[in-house]
Amino acid sequence: MATIFSKIVAGEIPSYKCAENDRFYAFLDINPLVKGHTLVIPKREVDYIFDLSDEEIGAMQVFAKHVAEAIKKAFPCIKVGQAVLGLEVPHAHIHLIPMQNEKDMLF
Ligand code: 5GP
Repeated sequence: MATIFSKIVAGEIPSYKCAENDRFYAFLDINPLVKGHTLVIPKREVDYIFDLSDEEIGAMQVFAKHVAEAIKKAFPCIKVGQAVLGLEVPHAHIHLIPMQNEKDMLF
């Protein structure tokens, strides 16, 4: 059965797209910790990020870096934090979270 995120990639569930290429997709989190909280996922359905190949993890990080640069312009912040949780959705993803303060407690 397709994950929620695969349905988002397929356009069966709406999302606010931030960026996309042939392998990866970035969209705003539906329940953001802060404004601009973005998720980066592989279009290929993989349970957890560490199930990706070394090459895929590298390519996903490069994609995430470019998304983070765009987030920083759209949502002025001191840095864009990155987190891998995977508690809720069994489809590999990276959280990108604009941070306003070095002392922000996000989790
Ligand atoms: P995690 O699996 O890393 O614990 O969290 C999954 C994240 O996906 C959560 O921050 C949650 O708000 C987000 N999320 C879950 N379902 C949807 C959805 O249908 N659309 C969007 N945009 N985000 C979702």
